[in-house]
Amino acid sequence: MGILSKLCMPNAYVQNIHQINFDELAQSGIRGVITDLDNTLVGWDEADPTPAVIHWFNKLNELNIKVTVVSNNHQKRVASFCTPLNVDYIFEARKPMGKSFKRACEHMDLKPEETVVIGDQMMTDVIGGNRRGMYTIMVVPVKKTDGFITKFNRLIERRLLNRYKRKGYIKWEEN
Ligand SMILES: [Mg+2]
Repeated sequence: MGILSKLCMPNAYVQNIHQINFDELAQSGIRGVITDLDNTLVGWDEADPTPAVIHWFNKLNELNIKVTVVSNNHQKRVASFCTPLNVDYIFEARKPMGKSFKRACEHMDLKPEETVVIGDQMMTDVIGGNRRGMYTIMVVPVKKTDGFITKFNRLIERRLLNRYKRKGYIKWEEN
């Protein structure tokens, strides 16, 4: 597989965050999660965590898995979502570039290989995690509608996914 393909390819692809088996990840040495917000935890236009999302955070807490929300969105959006959950966050992260994932790891006092990245976008979340050597889990976006830049990223994403399928790179179960 080429370098570019490796960079864009998630380690796992699931329907939603609730399908991720954290008991298994914890057993394999994962102690931290870096998660995207918009269209990963809730739809991009939903202001607050749903009861299911609150439950998901509680479960991670029980397993002693630390969490940082890393979002490219602005402070107001990210802070108002994360504060009631009492979870750390980084806003305007400029994924996939920038140092936000490195900062999140340092703040959680974890190594990249102890941390998984969860997100709905290949061009930001998956590339951002892969370039730091983290395990990356891509989820199907919660809402189908997107902003302009995201629409463009989705176009590239679809082409890459189709290419991976043709070449037989995709090992995960398709939903
Ligand atoms: Mg997103």
